[in-house]
Parts: sequence; structure tokens; C-alpha cells
Amino acid sequence: MSTAAQPYDSHEVWFLTGSQGLYGEETLQQVAHQSRQIAERLDAAPSIPLRIVWKPVLTDAESIRRMCQEASASDVCVGVIVWMHTFSPAKMWIAGLSALDRPLLHLHTQYNLSLPWPSIDMDFMNLNQAAHGDREFAHIESRVGVNRKIVAGHATDPRVVSRVAAWSRAAAGRHAARTLRLARFGDNMRDVAVTEGDKVEAQLRFGYSVNTYGVNDLVAVVDEVEDKAAAALAAEYQESYAVVPALRSDGIRHDSLLYAARLELGLRAFLTEGGFTAFTTNFEDLGGLRQLPGLAVQRLMADGYGFGGEGDWKTSALLRTMKVMGQGQPGGTSFMEDYTYHLGPGEPRILGAHMLEVCPSIAADRPSCEIHPLSIGDREDPVRLVFDAAPGAALVVGLSDLGDRFRLTANAVDVVAPSQPLRRLPVARAVWTPRPSFAESAESWLLAGAPHHTVLSTAVDQETLGDFAAMTGVELLTVDENTSVDQLAKEIRWNAAYHRLAQAL
Ligand code: MN
Repeated sequence: MSTAAQPYDSHEVWFLTGSQGLYGEETLQQVAHQSRQIAERLDAAPSIPLRIVWKPVLTDAESIRRMCQEASASDVCVGVIVWMHTFSPAKMWIAGLSALDRPLLHLHTQYNLSLPWPSIDMDFMNLNQAAHGDREFAHIESRVGVNRKIVAGHATDPRVVSRVAAWSRAAAGRHAARTLRLARFGDNMRDVAVTEGDKVEAQLRFGYSVNTYGVNDLVAVVDEVEDKAAAALAAEYQESYAVVPALRSDGIRHDSLLYAARLELGLRAFLTEGGFTAFTTNFEDLGGLRQLPGLAVQRLMADGYGFGGEGDWKTSALLRTMKVMGQGQPGGTSFMEDYTYHLGPGEPRILGAHMLEVCPSIAADRPSCEIHPLSIGDREDPVRLVFDAAPGAALVVGLSDLGDRFRLTANAVDVVAPSQPLRRLPVARAVWTPRPSFAESAESWLLAGAPHHTVLSTAVDQETLGDFAAMTGVELLTVDENTSVDQLAKEIRWNAAYHRLAQAL
């Protein structure tokens, strides 16, 4: 796997515990001991992919401010969990919270699960007062206007762990967005509206750095790839996939496979060299490339890179962000496009695909590697992986630019096996049934003005995506089993009012 796929190793979430000096050294030692155990319990939870790092108990405004500034300046801290074990007078937190530039999860918990009814005395009451300590803290969070996720319950409660896990994945996604560098090879497809967007606003809002390169800058790197390296990679393809006879070493079109390998190596070198984690191509602007990159794009997506076709940098950046949020989870995440419908008989279904570029992380079986003509792009026949997507619950997510802001739209869907084998379709594809129904999903999606290019993920759940949207302050419309189109229409109107009011003057 490439380095693009492994961002969790260096990430930390800091666990901050609030208290005050009033209780004496002995109590504060107990507070430290107990909060450390809770942090370690969360750190050890297999579903939480990031390291949870306990920090010394905070008892005064100065240490709180310093810790929040340290977290905000840290290259490894992607979020903070805060818990008031005891009472921590919250005016002490104003400077710190005002300086904090990291996602905050307010964990409302306590060390003991049960009350020791017969033995409770005032020492116990003094030590275990998160019930009101966290209310004091929450008041100042609201007063300062701190964007946060609140999770209440004991640290042994699976719901608590799972909610912390979703938030930590979202925090890693936010970090990936803030450090995301995207290379566009060429502009977006001529006259297309939804792939346009405000790149400056995207950098302000998400952190995406999006820049264009002449496609012949890439061609130069592709042409420099050594024959020996391309041959070695083509041999790897023949190990990894069911490569059709014509493309194999002894086949009449093996040269096309060698060129596909050359494309992958060139693209990979260009992206690695520039520190890019996402990219786009455009079939209208291929310069000296002999094939539209298909196999190369598919394999780079599988390694964690973001991609968008037709110059769609917003979907590429979203894909990269979701790749990071879903990393290590069962399932996969791919570039996708709603392509064509089955409206009956039986349950309506959506057939999603693209010209070539669907990520094999969602494949049900070992992909086949094939070559077929492509009617657009005016180049040689491109090599691509062909497969069906694995069945399972998924999210289809789109990012659109409404002119004054961005909107995420998500549809909960169920990927299903095709009703019949798709013997003549020479591209990778996914078939799904959208929730709550085809008609309500499509009506909602269109009402939202959501895009036709999307990210399909069986690895990222609704809670994680919701946490990411909240952290970045971006509207998220969710279409799922609870959606009614009428209600969504109202939500869209209310959201428009909210987001305009929330914008600075
Ligand atoms: Mn497209």
C-alpha cells in the first residue's frame, strides 16, 4: 500500500480532564488515576482507530489555555476529548476554548458505574461530580459557541465507544482535508455545471488545496518510466487480476497493458513527488497520453487516493476524505456516478458506474482486467478492471457548490447483486436500491441539487459523515429510511436561512 493510505499512524486524540485546586492533592491524584484509566480504556478499544492520549489534569485557566494552544499547534493532535471529572469552574475554560482549533468531543461520563448506596459519604460526592461539573462546562461551551459532539454514558457502554469511534474517524477525515493537496490534470469538462466550484472557498472551508497542471507535465513523467519497471508491474497485474488473454505477456495487445502500467507508475510518481493525495483527469484534455487512465486510476483509488472524472475536483477531494474516514473498516469506497435505472418489474434499482474509474475496494470478487474501445477521448482503447460491487449497506454522498456555500447530500442505499449477469458491460459497476424508495430518493436528491458524481462507500457510516459535516460547518442533507420529501423540502429552506445567517457579515 502507498503512504497515501496510512494516515492514522501519526494521529492522536488528546484526552483532557478538567478539575480545580479546591479538592486537595489526594483527590486530584485520584482524579488523575481514574481519568487515565478511562483514556486507556478508549485507547484500547479496537473500534477506535486513533491513539487516545491522556494529558495531566487541568486545574487552572493558564494550564487550560496552554493545553488548548498546544493541541491546536500540534501536527499529531487531530481532536480533543474533554471531561470534567470534578467541578472545574468554567470561566477558567473561556480562554482555552476560544483558542482551540481542533474538533472537540465532550465526554459526559463518570468513573464508577453504580452508586455504592450504603457507603456514600461526602468524600465520594466530592470525587464523583461530573454530573454537574460537565453541565457547568457545557454551559460555557454553548456560551463561547463551541462546535462539539456530546457523548454521554459509561466508558464500558458500547454505544459510547462507537460514538467516540465515529467522531475520531471524522476528526482524521478533517485532518486529511486540511492537508489535502489535489492535482488536476486539465480543467473540468466543458460546459458542465456541477463539477465547477469555488476552489478558494473549498480551501477556506475544508482545507483542500486544488491546483491545475498541464496534462503534458504528466505525460513527461509517464514517458520517463523505464520499460523494465512497466514490465514488472504488468506482471503483477497478471498475478492480481484475471487478465484477458489478449493483454497477457503472450497476447496480441500486451503493449496496451504495458502502457497502462507505465501510466500508473507515472501518475504515482507525479503524485508522490508533489505530496498529492487526490487528482482528477479529463477525457477532453489528454495531451500526449495514449490511453485515458483507467486501470491506473482504479489502483490508485484502492491505495487511498481521491479521484474525480471530468475534472471533478470536489468529488475527488471528498473521496480522499472518505477514504481516510473509512480506513480499516470492512467494505470499500469509490468514485461513482448514477448511470441508468431499472424501474421495474420488481424493485427499482440504480446502476452506477463510470467510463472506467470505479475503485476495486468495493469489488465482490477478483476483478478481471480487460481492454475495450471507448467512444470518447479520441485515444487508444483503455485498459480497465471490470467487476460487480459487493452487496451491503452503503452511503452515496455528493458535494455540491451552491454558489454561497457547499452542501453534502447523502443517500443510504443497499448495494445488491445485479438481477442478471452483465455480460456485455465492459466497466466496473454497482447496483443498489436507494432508501427510502427509488422515487423518494431521486426526488430528494434532485430537490437538493445534488451532483451526479458521488462517492459510494460501504466503509463510512452516517454518524461519521455527520460528525465530519458538523466539524467543518457544512450542511448535510441525509436521505434515508426516515426521509419524507415534504419534510426535506422544509429542511432545505430552513438550512438556507440558517447558513446565510451563520455567515459572517
Ligand atoms: Mn462522469
